[in-house]
Parts: sequence; C-alpha cells; structure tokens
Amino acid sequence: MSTYGIDLGTTYSCIARLDSNGNPEVIRNNEDDSNTVASVVFFENENNVIVGQAAKENVETDGDRVVQFVKREIGKRNTRTYEFDGKTYTPVEISALILTRLKNLVEAQGGTIEDVVITVPAYFGLEERSATRQAGELAGLNVLSLINEPTAAALSYCARQFQEDRTILVYDLGGGTFDVTVVKMSMVQNESGRDVQKITVLATGGDDRLGGKDWDDRLYNHILHACCDENGLTPEEVEAETRQDIRSKVEEAKRKLSKKQSAKVRIDVNGSRTEVTIKRTDFEQMTSDIVAKTMNFVDATLEKVPAEAIDTVLLVGGSTYMPMIINAVESKFPGKVQQHDPDQAVAKGAAIYASMLVEEVGSLSAQGDETSDSPEGKTVQHAEQLTSKFTVEDQTPRSFGPGVVDTKGAKHKYVLENFIKIGEKMPAVFSKTYYPLEDNQERVLLRAFENMSTDDTLIPCVDEDGNPQATDPAHNVKLLGELVVNLPPNTSRDTPIKVTFKVDASGVHVEAVNTQTDETFETFLRTESDIDIERSAVHQLRISSD
Ligand code: ADP
Ligand code: MG
Repeated sequence: MSTYGIDLGTTYSCIARLDSNGNPEVIRNNEDDSNTVASVVFFENENNVIVGQAAKENVETDGDRVVQFVKREIGKRNTRTYEFDGKTYTPVEISALILTRLKNLVEAQGGTIEDVVITVPAYFGLEERSATRQAGELAGLNVLSLINEPTAAALSYCARQFQEDRTILVYDLGGGTFDVTVVKMSMVQNESGRDVQKITVLATGGDDRLGGKDWDDRLYNHILHACCDENGLTPEEVEAETRQDIRSKVEEAKRKLSKKQSAKVRIDVNGSRTEVTIKRTDFEQMTSDIVAKTMNFVDATLEKVPAEAIDTVLLVGGSTYMPMIINAVESKFPGKVQQHDPDQAVAKGAAIYASMLVEEVGSLSAQGDETSDSPEGKTVQHAEQLTSKFTVEDQTPRSFGPGVVDTKGAKHKYVLENFIKIGEKMPAVFSKTYYPLEDNQERVLLRAFENMSTDDTLIPCVDEDGNPQATDPAHNVKLLGELVVNLPPNTSRDTPIKVTFKVDASGVHVEAVNTQTDETFETFLRTESDIDIERSAVHQLRISSD
C-alpha cells in the first residue's frame, strides 16, 4: 500500500505505514541505522545537499551552511529565508527536502509512496498547517490530511490497547518542543449504527521552545567546562573543532546516560586528548529545573481537566527515554505511566489515520459495487473493517472571527468578534447576523481573523481602513483573508447579512448570505500566501440594527 504517516519533527522525523496485518511499522533509516531521520539539512555545495545525521555533524564547524529547527519557522509571517550558493530557500522548501529524504527511504526499499498524512503540533495555526501541507506537495506527496501529533500518538496507543472511557494525558517531550494533551477514549455508534472507538481531545498545553536540546545545551556546557579545567583553558580559548567535537558527542552521551549510571566522552581539546566522565546523578542535578518546568505545564493543563480524571499517562517523544522524566511523571501519577516506542508513536498513529482516510474514500467509492472481486474491491473490504474502528474529534487550534464595526458609542469602533474560541470541538460552526454600515453600500469587505484569545471581542491587527495597528502580542492576532460581498443597488443599511464561520482540520470556511436576496458569498481560507489588504473605510458590516 502506498499510504504513509509522517512525523515531521523539529529535530527528528519519522515515516511509518501499516504492514500486511494492519499493524503500524516504521521504515528504517538504514544509512543512519535509526528509526528516524535528523531534521537537519547541510548545503555542502551547489550540487550536494545532505539531510540527516551526516548533516548534523557539520553544525559546529560549518554552522552557516546547516539548517535545523526549521519547523519553528514554517508558516510564520515575515519569516527568514536561507541562502546557499546563490539560491534562496524558504522554510517550506527546507521542510520539503526533509520530506523528500523520508520519501527516498521508502523508495530505496522498493516501495512507492503517494498518499500521506503529516503530523503537526496541536498549537499550529492555520498558516503553519497550510505551509506544512505545501511542503508535502512540494516533495511530490499527496497530503490526504494533517493530524495533531498528540492525537496521532493517542491513536497509536488506542490501536494497541483500547479501553472504554479512559482519559489519557499525553506527555510529549521531543527535541525542541513540549506538548501536553489530554484525550478521552470512548465507544460511540457511527452513522451506520456500528460501534466505533472515539478519541476526543479535552485539553492541550505546552511550550514550543522546550525540549531535548535544553538538556544537550546543559551537557555541552558541562563538558566544555570540564575540558577547560583539565587543560587550564578558558572557554574562549577552545577551538571551533573542539566545540564541534563536544557538540557531536553530547547527544550520544545523553542517550548513554538514559541506560547507564555514567558516560565517558573523549574530546580532542585543542590537540590534546581529554576524557570526561559524567555521572547520571550530576546530569540530573544540572537539569532538574527543566524537568520541573515541564511538570509546571502539566499542572497548568490539569487546571482544565482534574488530575483524578487521568487514568493513564502516555510518554511520547525521544526525550522521555530519560529516566529523570519517567521518574518525575511517575511520582506525580504513580502506577499510571506507560511508554511505547516514544520516538515512533506519532508516525505510527499518522499511518493508522492515513489508512483510515484512504479506506473511507475506498468504501464510499465501492458502494453499490459490493460484488466486485477486483483487487480494489478486496482492499475496500479490509478497509471497511478498519474504518469502522476509530473516529477522532479534535479541537480548534486557535480562535476565529470577523472584523465588524461597533456603532454604539460616540465613535465607531472596529472590533474582532471571536466567533469560534480556541479549544472548541471541530468542526466548529458559528453564525451571526450583521448589517451594512451605510445605505446603498455597494459591497462589504469581510475580514477574517485568527487569534489566541478567548475574549468575546478584541482589537483586530488592522484598523477599519486596513492599516496595521497594535494588538496585545499575547493574543497573536492575524488577518487570514478578506471576503468581498457584493450588494445589489439600493440596499438598505437594515439588510441582514448572515455571516458564518466553520473551522475544521483543513481550514476555515467563511460564508456571508444576503438574507434578502439569498445570495451567498463564500471563501475557503488556507492562507497560502499573504493577502493584499484592501484599504477602505466604508465597506464594512456593523454589529446591530439601530
Ligand atoms: P521531535 O522533537 O523532532 O519530535 P523526537 O520526539 O524524536 O523529536 O525527540 C528527539 C529528542 O529526543 C532529541 O533531543 C534526542 O536527543 C532525544 N532522545 C532520543 N533518544 C534518547 C535517549 N535514549 N535518551 C535521551 N534522549 C533521547
Ligand atoms: Mg515529535
């Protein structure tokens, strides 16, 4: 089957599919003898671009030709680009290079790959999601859908051991990000009356700048200082090659410390061989504050779902191999902690989801053709069994709403009315009726905004005229797009215009209906490119009929 699940990670990426028995399996990266591919790109020269472990080995010596952590840039407005050998690369293009490397793993092993599901962090907004999809398309993949990483991890756990009415906290500590998500597993009946296992996301939290890299940095500094002490040097006197030597050994030492009580590293310090031994207890001491920080995020998430409600804690992400993490989580949730393939669970869940989707399409197209004995028919039958097994209900990653004019006060106020709030179950739909600002208005310019606030109204990031204006940075207000609604001649300012927002996993659908003429205007916002903001004061909608 050519359906795959891809975990496009900040530090490591992974690709999986279902084997012939329907069990998820990861495609090995034989070159690096690993289940994952380092999300690092090295532009060695015009003709040679390297992705993976070999790229990572150049970080310290050739850092200006290496790109890592690109996931932090993808889909961000006014983001940086990267220049190598006269060519400019966007974060989407760099991500596409990583995806191409994953695609090549499949092809090198004789497989074909077309349809994929790519995972994204739960906190990604519309633009980050859209950019991730674009990266997949650029790598020649057919992106069936995106799925939130913790939801994918929960799906792979659910496929392994479903238990009705269990609430699971997913603790995902990767290389550069930390996510906490609470999901509930339940049994529901689908439209055809069949029992299906349902995963509902109840709460999400975390920090997109907290991960294994913080442990690496502490260990790097520790080893650097130990090397200096041993050789009577100051850190400034240490050569770049020595730094690269330390950098390239830090992660391995960290991984050793997950298994053993101590780890030895041999470093060539400005030409002189130095041996440094790190004890696990020391490593744990020098990083205990970062462990505590993750637990604070767990506590914050538990404000939304009580701790007593948690039945199982699922450890996901490569950094949860560290015993200090297992111990910290275990002491908060005694007897409830589980860990299965923490660096593969997300990709495996995505593979399960991808085949669910393909099979849904398959079973639809097979309706009325049930006697078919073609190979396609057989696939569909297998598919139906699987399709009936799961359903996923996720939450909106952001809040969404239109910009409208509040005419009540002495002065007109252009406000953002938050229709759909962050954390609502998807698909989320909300409608409200507005009115043209003036009589005989020819058209309405309906702006759609995204933000991270749960307030009912807030200040949009552009004013009524379309000029940028300051908002509370914590609300992260973004203009997603504009819908032009043409009005017939002689439209009165009391004509009701019904505005509807619908948010699902693939984007935001905005609709405006002139309820007098029933004329409908709609747009689907994926925000593939920046919008040319139209500047005009008179084409707005106002809140109430006064
Ligand atoms: P991503 O953040 O890209 O989703 P992963 O979930 O694969 O990444 O986690 C990568 C992080 O896990 C890296 O910081 C890596 O060093 C760390 N890691 C992987 N294996 C181990 C291990 N055995 N012990 C400690 N840390 C590990
Ligand atoms: Mg991850």
